[in-house]
Amino acid sequence: MAPIPSPSTTAPKDISRRGLMLVLSSPSGAGKTTISRRLLERESGITMSVSATTRAMRPGEVSGVDYHFIDQARFDRMAEDGAFLEYARVFGNCYGTPRGAVDEALSAGRDVLFDIDWQGTQQLAENARDDLVSVFILPPSGEELERRLRGRAQDSAEVIAGRMAKASDEISHWAEYDYVIVNRDVDESVAAVTAILHAERLRRRRQVGMTQFVKNVQAAL
Ligand code: 5GP
Repeated sequence: MAPIPSPSTTAPKDISRRGLMLVLSSPSGAGKTTISRRLLERESGITMSVSATTRAMRPGEVSGVDYHFIDQARFDRMAEDGAFLEYARVFGNCYGTPRGAVDEALSAGRDVLFDIDWQGTQQLAENARDDLVSVFILPPSGEELERRLRGRAQDSAEVIAGRMAKASDEISHWAEYDYVIVNRDVDESVAAVTAILHAERLRRRRQVGMTQFVKNVQAAL
């Protein structure tokens, strides 16, 4: 009879684990998009969740990359069919996270980055707490955010006031998040988000393959 191979007691480079969901929320103008882009450039094993939205495409945006741009009827059908992990109305438009791509990535042990608002984060916290890591990005000061939100000179006072009110509303949810970062310097903020990601990957409950590895180590003693 062939000998039973003894289990390896050398840890594989990557102990198998379920992926995590890393949410970044902030008022617009706080630098979240830049931080997300830099993180995706330097980190492997993490992909961006591409949301579906009913809002019109902005110049420079690419369908299927920035968003899946869909009409209201299709959005409502997807919501009814349970195709969204979470969805919300933000600034008069609908936004939702398609469930399929996220589930697939998580079960394959890949992490997923989300740029969603506080309403979506609350829904994920209710439905997928164990997989969720939430980070809120704050601007360095109110004055700096106001300067960025004032944006182009041709914007009307009404448009600007609307942006400020939305920013204030989003900021009021900061304390619901696991981590908070004040974005004074983009490089420092990217380093902070990277540190959070690395630490959260090492959480014991996420490293499902660790139980077998420890058993193998013990069996060899
Ligand atoms: P924008 O239209 O400027 O791209 O995004 C507006 C807001 O919608 C941002 O705060 C963004 O985080 C949020 N958002 C984008 N996609 C989703 C989504 O799938 N779900 C939720 N809840 N919010 C989203």
